[in-house]
Order: sequence, then structure tokens, then C-alpha cells
Amino acid sequence: MLLSAFLDSELVARPFVCVLGYPVSHSRSPAIHNAALAYHGIHVQYYAVACPPEEFHLVPALFKMPEFKGANVTIPLKEKIVSLLDSLETDAKRIGAVNTVVPDGRDRRLKGYNTDVYGFMKPLEPFGEISAATILGTGGAARAAIAGLAESGCKKIHLVSRTSKKHEMAGIYPDIVRVITYDDLEQVLPGSQLLVNTTPVGMHPGRDSSPVGEELIPLLKRKICYDIIYNPPETKLVRQARREGAKVIGGLDMFLYQAARSFELWFGKTMPMDLVRDVVIKSLDEMNMTASG
Ligand code: NAP
Repeated sequence: MLLSAFLDSELVARPFVCVLGYPVSHSRSPAIHNAALAYHGIHVQYYAVACPPEEFHLVPALFKMPEFKGANVTIPLKEKIVSLLDSLETDAKRIGAVNTVVPDGRDRRLKGYNTDVYGFMKPLEPFGEISAATILGTGGAARAAIAGLAESGCKKIHLVSRTSKKHEMAGIYPDIVRVITYDDLEQVLPGSQLLVNTTPVGMHPGRDSSPVGEELIPLLKRKICYDIIYNPPETKLVRQARREGAKVIGGLDMFLYQAARSFELWFGKTMPMDLVRDVVIKSLDEMNMTASG
């Protein structure tokens, strides 16, 4: 539903949370948050609300609604939303992007968080400290991955771009991050413990694509290979890496952990992870079948 229509509807008269973005209809966030809200018996509803550029001026009115309990923010608003907030927590400040808005205290001052950083790092915990990593892609998700890894003690990050022009990305952690191109991948992979894919290559419906050429897959042996794409939950890259004996992580964990952190910030409750994992897998299957059908 468009933001303007949402503001004019009855829905805002009852306690609500929403994800704001454009487009936003593909978002699986309503499915998992509504399942978690029902599980806890919390009488709040979570909606997907589309905010095209010409409706951005309506966002402050949304945040002032008496029944507004919080929001997720997604592409293309993660940076733009910062100008509407009263304060930012550390990760959001560090990378200049917000994915969770929390109305705080009695005066409901708006605080911005970036739970993608937590969501990205949480599945890496069982693997111990990462000292050197290679990240494919230079967008918003790469920023969250860089911040999480750098803050947890990673000393060297190779950031792989299709062009070598995006040196501003190296600016956020200049001592750690080096921007390279895909021509250099073969050279840096042996020295990295971790390879992360933050490009959209391999995402549904392009499931047969992988961002890493078949000839380089043997270099992933005994490495950690982390693909943050969650549709499909297991990408071609993950399958290739597993076949080669790599330890693999799919994007569903990051998606669920970033959501869990947002849920805790809004409601002070733990997200029922097994339940919401089943919900999101089922909802992805349904969405993909509808799209192909
Ligand atoms: P983004 O800002 O569009 O960045 C993606 C980056 O990948 C681009 O900056 C680009 O870097 C590179 N890229 C784009 N198209 C490519 C192509 N065809 N081939 C190779 N490289 C390409 O997107 P994002 O927000 O960072 O998200 C990236 C992916 O992560 C998406 O698939 C998204 O669904 C996923 N994601 C998952 C989670 C989760 O919770 N699991 C959270 C956030 C995002 P260069 O131009 O420098 O090559």
C-alpha cells in the first residue's frame, strides 16, 4: 500500500509497525514480524508501506501517528531517512544508514539503528575471529559487513568491485579496506579466511548465476563462504563452495537476526527463530511460485 493511502486508512488507528521502502511488496518482513507478534500475543500489526520519492515528505506525519510503534527502512531510504531522526546509535552513525526506527521514551524521540551489522555478524560467531576477508559488491550491505568485521578485529578487507572507481568505500575504514576488481580475486582469496557475497548475483530468478567463476571455486576449500542472498536460501555459490569443502552460511540467518534485533528494540521480546524461519521459507516458496506461475 502507498504511504498516502496508508495514512488515510483505518489501519493507522490501531498500534502498528511498518517497513518503508520502494518497491516494498517483495519484503518478507511483514510475514516474520506478524508471526512473532502473534506468538507473543502482542496486539500490533506490521505492514509493508511503499514510499516513492514523491511521498517522502509524508514520512514525518507517519512517525507522529499516536499508534506508530516503530519502522524498518529499506532500499532506497536507508540513508535518506537519517535527516528525519533525532539520534543514531553507533552502527547507524558509523555507516550512515538506518534500517530500524524506534520511537524512544515519553517524548517519542526518533532513534535510528542499523541492525544489519548485528544480523551480518551473528552467524559468524561460531567461526571465531576473522582476520582477513574478501567482500564482493560495494553497496549498502557491504558497508554493514565492513563495519561489523572491522569492529570485531578484522585487519584486512578486500572489497571487490566491477570497477575500481568506488574508492570512497575504502574511506570508512582506510587502514583496513582495499578496493580491488574481479581480476585480483584469484590473488587475494588464498589469504582470506572469509568470502562474502553482497552482490545480487545468484538471487531469484537468477538462481543459476554465481559471482565467482568455476575456476576459482577450488580456492574456497576450508574457507568460510557467506552469501547474504536469502532468496533462494541456498544459492549456487553456497552449493559450489560446500562441494569444495568450505564452511557455508546462507543469507537467511542474517535476515532473521537483523529482524530479531529490530523486534527486541521495539517490543523487548525475543523473536521465536525456528517459527519465523519456517514462515519465511514458506512465504518465499509462495512468492516465487506466484511470480513464475
Ligand atoms: P546494492 O546497494 O545494490 O549493492 C550491490 C553491489 O553489488 C553494488 O554496489 C555493485 O557493486 C554490485 N553489483 C550490482 N549488480 C551486480 C552484478 N550484476 N554483478 C556483479 N556485481 C553487481 O545492494 P545491497 O543493498 O548492498 O544488497 C545487496 C544484496 O544483498 C541483495 O541481493 C540483497 O537482497 C542482499 N541483502 C541481504 C540481506 C540479508 O538480511 N540477508 C540484507 C541486505 C541485503 P559494484 O558496482 O562495485 O560492482
